[in-house]
Amino acid sequence: MAKKLARALSAFCLIPLASAVSAASLPDYQTNSDWFTEASDRLEERTSLSREAKTAKNVILFVGDGMGISTLTAARILEGQLAGESGEENALSFEEFPHTALIKTYNTNQQTPDSAGTMTAMMTGVKTRAGIINIDGDALRGDCASTEGRELNTFLEMVESRGKATGIVSTARLTHATPAATYSRSPERNWEYDAEGNCSDIASQMVEMAAGDGIDVMLGGGRRSFVTIDNGGKREDGRDLTSEWLERYDGDQTAVYVSSGSELKGVDIASTNKLLGLFTGSHMSYDADRIFKGSDEPSIAEMTDTAIELLEKDSDGYFLMVESGRIDHGHHAGNAYNALHDAIAFADAVQVALDKVDLADTLILVTADHSHVMTIAGYPTRGNPILGKVVENDSTGAAQSEVGLAADGKPYTTLNYANGLGFADLGENTDADERYKIAADTGRKDLSKVDTEAPGFHQEALVHLESESHAGEDISLHAIGAGAELVQGSLEQSAVFHVMTTATDLSLTEE
Ligand SMILES: [Zn+2]
Repeated sequence: MAKKLARALSAFCLIPLASAVSAASLPDYQTNSDWFTEASDRLEERTSLSREAKTAKNVILFVGDGMGISTLTAARILEGQLAGESGEENALSFEEFPHTALIKTYNTNQQTPDSAGTMTAMMTGVKTRAGIINIDGDALRGDCASTEGRELNTFLEMVESRGKATGIVSTARLTHATPAATYSRSPERNWEYDAEGNCSDIASQMVEMAAGDGIDVMLGGGRRSFVTIDNGGKREDGRDLTSEWLERYDGDQTAVYVSSGSELKGVDIASTNKLLGLFTGSHMSYDADRIFKGSDEPSIAEMTDTAIELLEKDSDGYFLMVESGRIDHGHHAGNAYNALHDAIAFADAVQVALDKVDLADTLILVTADHSHVMTIAGYPTRGNPILGKVVENDSTGAAQSEVGLAADGKPYTTLNYANGLGFADLGENTDADERYKIAADTGRKDLSKVDTEAPGFHQEALVHLESESHAGEDISLHAIGAGAELVQGSLEQSAVFHVMTTATDLSLTEE
């Protein structure tokens, strides 16, 4: 295995490039990138120690956007408490996977990363700048001309061009940074429905993907980037990409486009070759809202289930990426309730995959792209509601009967953010300057009569930022199934690409 990788790498330098974006072979600046070679060498070392014989036919990569370690811990506790238990002893579905690694997430130009740069590392083996999708770090963000000759090919494109099946599922817009990094190239993650210079927008790249015969199943949010303004979308070029996508397969394969959860349930998978589901204009609902409002959107578990059903029809194998995009959004809003409930829904989707696949030929990876600044703090007693106010133990170690008070005489919650919107009692005030003034005058809000476990509660924050930020510490990678033993120790995020190519024995050059 290790030898094959080395051979593939050395042989590659002799092959002239037909096109930078032909995914059959990787361009030499991709395979010669230090990010690429160092992560690959490191993995080769590990491989020689403990590689088992199993090769993965299928890979499912689960990405919890913004699901840092504190999010894992808090979601695990909440899931246990929702089941009537103390919570701390609970484990999310993937936390019992046999192999785990820590992942370093920084971008080439940023200590605390963004999702475009981090997903590029996972999908291409090369780290890049924040905000840039699948173009190496020598390009400038937002500068189309700087991308020429720097485009990177993705694991999904390689799998697709080798005749296997591919799929993407996301609760965010399918053109948002994480899913976009499986199939597109853009110097600006925000060019979802239009672009500058000779660059093309991300949505059109999704339906036109040249590798193989395109992505086989795509389920998520973001319809607005695919339809015209007249049809409630954002496109000013008059194109309707959903009908263009259907026409691409006309007379050739059975392609089905759905736009609601009930339509998705009605799809006859046996007779469907290609499936596109765009369930909302922008991002899909937070899972708690989806359930509470009874909106006609599939859950992330249902989308995962349908995607696997369709992909496993291909006997050559498949690659599926499943993103829970809104864990990140809950955190950015300073709202742990939604972040944690979406993390639990994400763990349910992983369980669906575990129940469906054969781990003898399938590798399941579960990871995040980056962390968030949420902390689990104070000394709450065992079983204290994770979204609640801190109740400490007394001097004998038994739970107090009243909530604990901080030095300012006010109660405080276990979960807090280092920064974001929840920095003071702002009332209804939305003016930024006013907010600073109020914060200086009033200090911390008094939570005595506030239900901190309610869906809309925003945890307190120390530093005032209009949006809570990502965090720079390591995240985790969990693995089970064929090739899972590659996942161990502390790895650069670009190693995730090599875990997938090594586990599947995927040649880096055209065969
Ligand atoms: Zn984010």
